[in-house]
Amino acid sequence: MIFFMKRLESIFNNLHIGVAVCNAANNRIESVNAVFARILGYEPGELTGALMEDIFTVECMLRFGAYKNTISECSNQGLFETIHQHKDGVSLFLTIHVSATKDNENNVEYFIVNLTDVTKCKHQELLLEQKEASLKEVQKITKIGSWEFCFSTMTLLCSDEMYRIFEIIFDESPPSYPDFIEVIHPDDRERVVRVYHKSLNNETSYDLTHRLLLNDGRIKYVREWGKSYYDPSGNPVRSTGMVQDVTERTMIEKKVEFIAHYDALTGLPNRILAKDRAEQAIAYAHRNGSRTVFLFIDLDGFKTVNDSLGHSVGDTMLRMVTQRLKEHIRESDTMSRQGGDEFLLIFSDIASISDVVILTKNLLKEFDEPFVVNTHPLASSASIGIAIYPDHGDTFEVLLQNADTAMYKAKESGKNTYCFYDPQMNHNLIGKFKMQNDLKIALQNSEFLLYYQPQIDLAHHKVSGVEALIRWRHPQMGMIPPMSFIPVAESTGLIVQIGEWVIREACRQAALWSQQGMSLTVAVNISAIQFKQGDLEAVVREALSVSGLDPRYLELELTESILIHDTENIYQTVQTLKGLGIQLSIDDFGTGYSSLSYLKRFAVDKLKIDQSFVRDILQDQEDAVIVRTIIQMAKNLNLKTIAEGVENGEVFNLIREYGCDEVQGYHFAEPMRAESVETFYLGWK
Ligand code: C2E
Ligand code: CA
Ligand code: CA
Repeated sequence: MIFFMKRLESIFNNLHIGVAVCNAANNRIESVNAVFARILGYEPGELTGALMEDIFTVECMLRFGAYKNTISECSNQGLFETIHQHKDGVSLFLTIHVSATKDNENNVEYFIVNLTDVTKCKHQELLLEQKEASLKEVQKITKIGSWEFCFSTMTLLCSDEMYRIFEIIFDESPPSYPDFIEVIHPDDRERVVRVYHKSLNNETSYDLTHRLLLNDGRIKYVREWGKSYYDPSGNPVRSTGMVQDVTERTMIEKKVEFIAHYDALTGLPNRILAKDRAEQAIAYAHRNGSRTVFLFIDLDGFKTVNDSLGHSVGDTMLRMVTQRLKEHIRESDTMSRQGGDEFLLIFSDIASISDVVILTKNLLKEFDEPFVVNTHPLASSASIGIAIYPDHGDTFEVLLQNADTAMYKAKESGKNTYCFYDPQMNHNLIGKFKMQNDLKIALQNSEFLLYYQPQIDLAHHKVSGVEALIRWRHPQMGMIPPMSFIPVAESTGLIVQIGEWVIREACRQAALWSQQGMSLTVAVNISAIQFKQGDLEAVVREALSVSGLDPRYLELELTESILIHDTENIYQTVQTLKGLGIQLSIDDFGTGYSSLSYLKRFAVDKLKIDQSFVRDILQDQEDAVIVRTIIQMAKNLNLKTIAEGVENGEVFNLIREYGCDEVQGYHFAEPMRAESVETFYLGWK
């Protein structure tokens, strides 16, 4: 028996798991083996006789207690995992197995507590869990999903991110290969499947980007990498791959590409892309012996819209113009915005010149209907220049330049028309750049001169005044009309000095006429730039005093775009000018979208009804109504009216019937030299 007990003790102490025998009656530990003590950090002697609650955590004690209560009814064993503090404070993961021995009355007598230290395993398990979690996190952040396909079992394993990217939701059986294929954009599907098969058959990896089409119609861009592994006889064993959601990046790339090649306002190709497309079209035409047609379109009077109604109205109008013109563009053609109100249209495969004419006329027709922006009906037209490959040049630059030149010619011929390029034009029309330089020296070289166009007072039947109209006598080019160089002078600011010269010269001439007994008011055109940048009051004051002209014989023609801004500054300038005793009129009235009410505030004297209305009053009922209304309203406001552009007797008669005060136009006289004015004045009866 003693021997047996010794054997038992030896076995007890040499067990690989910790064992303790605890008295259930007093909760004291009666004996522990070496392993039990070591696991918890004690010497066996330290634990013998110790109270269980001094050694075990509250949680353990509760479990023991619960166990003690149920043990009689059910099993006499229990197994649980717990965290326990080692004697030196380190946390341990323990598996505790409790069994009990019972006395004859079936009461628990002893607890046999088995301890296994699973801390190491637990740490590894946690580490693995952490790794898995961070992998998931990485996949989520980088939007990369991974998958693996096993050929022997024909099973597909996917990471969570795969489902997220493909937006596949499932309850029970995980999705299979066809479920993923289904999400690929129908237009890309065939290509993608072909790449998969090719990779599998050729034992190569693949890398491709394609689209997904999701249930709600959204599109995603994904990039995929994948490869397969084979057994020695070349049969595929498994395939693995990754799928990354690159939608965001692709969108940014597309945006960058868009900004670089498209005009943000209209969405049309910009100059860079237009050049690229044009060069392709030219190369194509070269190979096929066909033609490429360049149409350079510039809107007429767009600046007035911008100046008077603001840039946002101007922008909207440009978008509407784009929409209308686009109707005429085939897929093989290019319509681009060159900046401002300029568009370049490139057509390939145009059969004949008469087709170009038909096309151009159709484009011009698009401007017949006004553009309605914020309830403003904006009338507009366009001037179109045409250059054709190979007839008018063989590079993009030359063709563009020549189409531009032809467009200027169209503007000169009265706008709202088109003009084919003609090499002769280059001699008549100097390039903008040269013009800028030449303009600078034109003033010093006294190349400018003034023409005067008589104005007739209908009530008194007399020549009441003249409008001063500038001309540029270019040493090589001959006489250049103002429409060709005023815009250039305005864009360089030179208009300020040129305008000052006009005022001085006009005052000098008017004073001379006055001395000769001809009381003629001289009307001078003032550019908006000159009004803004120049010191108009000082210039006028000086011109009047140097010439000795009575201020009431000087009239300044302002445009609506100057006054429409109606700032205190402009108001002050206008008032000081009026204070000098001069007259003020509004030029091109009716084109600037202004209301009559503000004219009252500015105390202008006269409205010059724009030629475009006057010209057409015989044919165009609407224009006739406009002219009549302007005259009527002006009368109510005590303003004088003058009709410009009266070209024939019929128009004149109608205008007179409407009650207009003055007329100006070719019907009476064209702009002429000062000497001729004297003859005209004296010959008028
Ligand atoms: P605008 O002020 O509207 O001048 C009237 C224009 O109409 C003049 O053209 C004149 O020759 C033309 N004209 C006159 N009667 C008739 C007619 O019966 N039928 C037709 N079809 N046209 C007629 P021009 O001299 O070529 O001047 C064009 C524009 O150049 C002027 O338009 C004005 O805006 C600008 N301009 C002329 N001189 C000056 C100037 O000294 N300073 C500034 N800033 N601009 C000027
Ligand atoms: Ca004028
Ligand atoms: Ca005018």
